[in-house]
Amino acid sequence: GESTNPIKLANKKIMSYASAKRKEIADLKRMEVYRREFLADVSHELKTPIFAAQGFVHTLLDGALEDEVIAKRFLKKAAKSLDGLDNMVHNLLSISQLESGDAKLVVERYDLREQVEEIFDQLENKADKKYVSLGFSEDTAPEVLVYADRRRIGHVMTNLIVNAIKYQDNKAGLVEVSLKEEDGKILVKVTDNGFGIPEEDVKRIFERFYRVEKSRAKSKGGNGLGLAIVRHILQAHGTQCFVKSSVGLGSTFSFYLSTEYFEEHDVQTELDKE
Ligand code: ADP
Repeated sequence: GESTNPIKLANKKIMSYASAKRKEIADLKRMEVYRREFLADVSHELKTPIFAAQGFVHTLLDGALEDEVIAKRFLKKAAKSLDGLDNMVHNLLSISQLESGDAKLVVERYDLREQVEEIFDQLENKADKKYVSLGFSEDTAPEVLVYADRRRIGHVMTNLIVNAIKYQDNKAGLVEVSLKEEDGKILVKVTDNGFGIPEEDVKRIFERFYRVEKSRAKSKGGNGLGLAIVRHILQAHGTQCFVKSSVGLGSTFSFYLSTEYFEEHDVQTELDKE
């Protein structure tokens, strides 16, 4: 039974205090390793666009400026690298804000279908250029109410739909969004008939900077942060993304959203569970 011996009780208290401290130290160490790796990754990834822009600008200064056609071409390339850099910094900032808990979710009730329609409109040109059509599954209701951070879930949907358009070249591409009520939640699915993702890569695509077949993704202007952001935002909503994919056939990204009000989930705790 429970000991009432005061020395034994005190001992037990000390032991549990020590084990709590040990856990705290282990957590700090893990965070420190994480931050160091993060910084190393970021510095490495920033180099590519910086070197590229630097190269074009210096070549211009070294004389390429004399030729108007070449000058314009180089300036365009430098601008493209800088735009990519800007994009990467934005993405890194949102990841770090979500991880540190600085960015609180703004949860509200809204129509997810309407939001996805707006995203379809914004991406129409991009999709047309690739002969990809965007649409809803037939069983998606005319109105789909969710409780979520509207701006951030917009970001999630945009990233998933952009990827679905980007990673295919089949001239009859389809991107289908399905929003369906299931067990009192909304099941969101984004399906494409694109390249698909090799099985060994599927578990890694949510890591920051991870790209399947680097050259191909790079030529498509990716920086490997889109899905890392998706993961973070969904974690803050207390949910996660599942992937089903087969090479040559296509992929489905899916997750659940709440139909009821909820408290924000701590991303750091969710990360620690992994
Ligand atoms: P990126 O900026 O490279 O698109 P993401 O984090 O959005 O970065 O995606 C990581 C990688 O996962 C991509 O480089 C791509 O290889 C793969 N990927 C993501 N979505 C899809 C998809 N719908 N079909 C095939 N591959 C995909």
